Amino acid sequence: MAEFTMELNDEQKEVRDWIHGFAADVIRPAAAEWDEREETPWPVIQEAAKVGIYSLDFYAQQYFDPTGLGIPMAMEELFWGDAGIALSIVGTGLAAVGVLANGTEEQIGTWIPQMYGDANDVKVAAFCSSEPDAGSDVASMRTRAVYDEAKDEWVLNGTKTWATNGGIANVHVVVAVVDSELGSKGHASFIVPLGTPGLSQGQKFKKHGIRASHTAEVVLENVRVPGSCLLGGKEKLDERLARARERAKAGGGERLKNAAMATFEASRPAVGAMAVGTARAAYEVALDYAKTREQFGRPIIDNQGVAFQLADMRTSIDAARLLVWRASWMAVSGKQFTSAEGSMSKLFASETAKKVTGQAIQILGGNGYTREYPVERMHRDAAIYTIFEGTSEIQRLVIARTLSGMPIR
Ligand SMILES: Cc1cc2nc3c(=O)[nH]c(=O)nc-3n(C[C@H](O)[C@H](O)[C@H](O)COP(=O)(O)OP(=O)(O)OC[C@H]3O[C@@H](n4cnc5c(N)ncnc54)[C@H](O)[C@@H]3O)c2cc1C
Repeated sequence: MAEFTMELNDEQKEVRDWIHGFAADVIRPAAAEWDEREETPWPVIQEAAKVGIYSLDFYAQQYFDPTGLGIPMAMEELFWGDAGIALSIVGTGLAAVGVLANGTEEQIGTWIPQMYGDANDVKVAAFCSSEPDAGSDVASMRTRAVYDEAKDEWVLNGTKTWATNGGIANVHVVVAVVDSELGSKGHASFIVPLGTPGLSQGQKFKKHGIRASHTAEVVLENVRVPGSCLLGGKEKLDERLARARERAKAGGGERLKNAAMATFEASRPAVGAMAVGTARAAYEVALDYAKTREQFGRPIIDNQGVAFQLADMRTSIDAARLLVWRASWMAVSGKQFTSAEGSMSKLFASETAKKVTGQAIQILGGNGYTREYPVERMHRDAAIYTIFEGTSEIQRLVIARTLSGMPIR
């Protein structure tokens, strides 16, 4: 197990500085333009691919950092650059993790390269779980996958929503119900390549923030994929379903839910780290502004009303980072999340980003409220962290249930 340390080693510092350089030189200068265009920033993704930041290798390297700090460090720096563009760069990772976690070696080898493409022809991937009537309540998912044994094909029908890169992805990872009696344990994931008949993009959402990131509905009408597109394969699925049915019969439903929650606990700190990046970016702009903007013959930071806000902002950001680092270290060390530490980190960092970016607008006064300064965009962007990958209310629910051991509703 890796020793917990709050100091990055030399190699990590080098990687952090490299990512920071890309965020400062390539992402940040492009942020306002792509926010206004509300389009996927393909040229920036391509630049990221050229330098090696948009690739599976890059994520694998950070993911397998034994201290657990590789992913949070990378996320913080990229999202410090700009949240919308950074999500366009890391969104594929969500689908890739779906394949890595559930796929066979052959599926990993076939599909992950197709998710990223190469530097001359970059591709993206989408992870499609949420539905119009199944957001926080994932178990109420309606998209069905039915096996056609004669043809060894799966037939998918349903509508997915809020899919990052949905409809423009080269590869869609679609979660669907294969046994409606088993709640979320009756779900399975399928690969649906772009161009598969019956797969189409529904509406593309016009969003409040992270506007450079494409978010859309994905419609599946009698989509047929070969048996080889079921992640993990049929044999493994049948075994898993049989085990789940046995446990359900024996009254082990709560244990099943807890197993699913443990998986989320390990992935939530990454979203917390994104929030830390956005919060830090806004805080830095506000600090610089407060030191240079003069009113009443002195810099506004000379007023305690402003300086104390900055003190609180920085304190919350550092506290959020520490929670994120703790949870990331726990995940990589195989520690049990006995107090829902992953959810704690996501909850605190998300709420911090929302608050701090709002405070930054206040410190910049009228300028903060305009699109001439980046804090207005950062504040719009920050609102997403309290919503996706489990809302703040759901994080509180998970923490409360974990602490109390009660099925709090
Ligand atoms: C920009 C964006 C990108 C996204 N990307 C993806 C993606 O790539 N793939 C994907 O599958 N999904 C994605 N999502 C979906 C996201 O995960 C969901 O929006 C989120 O889980 C919330 O679901 P919902 O929007 O249906 O809200 P709802 O679940 O309807 O919640 C509405 C409100 O009710 C509250 N609430 C619900 N249940 C409870 C409860 N039990 N106790 C207290 N409060 C409760 C919620 O906290 C929230 O405030 C994305 C969403 C957005 C906005």
